[in-house]
Amino acid sequence: MSRPDYPLTLDVTGRRVVVVGGGPVAARRAKGLLDAGALVEVVAPWVCEDLAELVGAGALRWLEREYVAGDLLAPEPAWLVHTATGDPRTDAQVAREAEAARVWCVRADDASASSAWTPAVARGASGSPSEGLTVAVTAGADPRRATAVRDAVLAALDSATLPVRRTRRPADARNVRQSAPLVGKVADASTSEGFGRVALVGGGPGAEDLITVRGRALLAGADVVVADRLGPRGLLSTLSEDVEVVEVGKTPGNHPVPQERINQILVDHARQGRNVVRLKGGDPFVLGRGGEEALHCAAHGVPVEVVPGVTSAVSVPAAAGIPVTHRGVTASFVVASAHEGPDSVLRAAADAAPDATLVLLMGVTRLAETAAGLIASGRAPQTPVALVESGWTPRQRTTVTTLERAADDAAAAGVRPPAVVVVGEVVGLRASLGDLAGG
Ligand code: SAH
Repeated sequence: MSRPDYPLTLDVTGRRVVVVGGGPVAARRAKGLLDAGALVEVVAPWVCEDLAELVGAGALRWLEREYVAGDLLAPEPAWLVHTATGDPRTDAQVAREAEAARVWCVRADDASASSAWTPAVARGASGSPSEGLTVAVTAGADPRRATAVRDAVLAALDSATLPVRRTRRPADARNVRQSAPLVGKVADASTSEGFGRVALVGGGPGAEDLITVRGRALLAGADVVVADRLGPRGLLSTLSEDVEVVEVGKTPGNHPVPQERINQILVDHARQGRNVVRLKGGDPFVLGRGGEEALHCAAHGVPVEVVPGVTSAVSVPAAAGIPVTHRGVTASFVVASAHEGPDSVLRAAADAAPDATLVLLMGVTRLAETAAGLIASGRAPQTPVALVESGWTPRQRTTVTTLERAADDAAAAGVRPPAVVVVGEVVGLRASLGDLAGG
């Protein structure tokens, strides 16, 4: 079954479907078809107990004999046939005649010789979180794997490990608010009894599979996603069309959406009853202003949660083959922002162990001042430096230099943000390790 396939859902209500064979496999197929409303006709010289029960209940028609040529066409052409006789010759004959009559044929004995095949199917139970969902999985020639995945999906939904609930449209959410007899008047947007919540989700450094499982699940269930320029932006295209994406990404030196406005957007949407995911690059609480957003939500009575992320401070050096600590080299590292110039970096470096690795975020624009400041305050001019641009993306690039040459080499190589600057002897490990970002 490595052939291309075309998943499709059929409405078989009131349509003639033939099941050839009387054993347990045929019985399962017949049952599924009956549940879907098909007019089922079983052709078999004998039937197992389950089928006999269905025959006895008048749920299906049983032709008590071997299959004969023409059964698919008379009394009227079938829409679909399942053959599960246990006899490859009969199954092959059914498949041949189905093909000639342009009837889709599912063959139990040999899926690769079928023109159609059934996925592993389960429907969410009523009253459960998966209510209304049909999960259908195919896995090539590995039906057991398909069954396992199907069950895992339903279990994850029903245990809320995967909180993908029914999508509530904004209009519905407003109706809920207005009809809610909570406050004795129609709630307006300035009250704090919103029904939505905000999740500050750390998206990791950029690769789509470096977000946490929880972050991914919340994203899948979001009504509104407020997105940054960094992080796993590719995931935005997996959102369903009715999810509103608000872009608030900043570029260096250019703040298209001020922080106060972002805070306000989060609260406004949550108050309209929406579940808001604030998708951020790296970790929300590492130089990401996530703390301010959390405080703003809390101050306005909006429930807020944080989902940690894989910070670029550690993962981007790793992608370039640079462990931020390494036995025998250094046992500590310091993360600092060079955004406002070298002062905060120099303070952090002064407080750190002399051999501590320095990891600088937002460090490209003011690199010359920062490197000069570090040398002036006692770091050796020969200290190795790595500039790792766009870690975990196809554009990842690393420039290795020294403190005294960093600014010149960065300019010569045209190093551009986003980049992580690593200062310290651990940079030397890259010579042996090389790039380590898989995927
Ligand atoms: N909260 C984020 C950091 C936000 S500050 C985190 O935990 O990772 C933005 C800075 O992070 C960028 O200027 C750059 O220094 C760094 N950065 C984020 N993603 C990066 C990536 N994929 N490659 C290189 N640097 C990155």
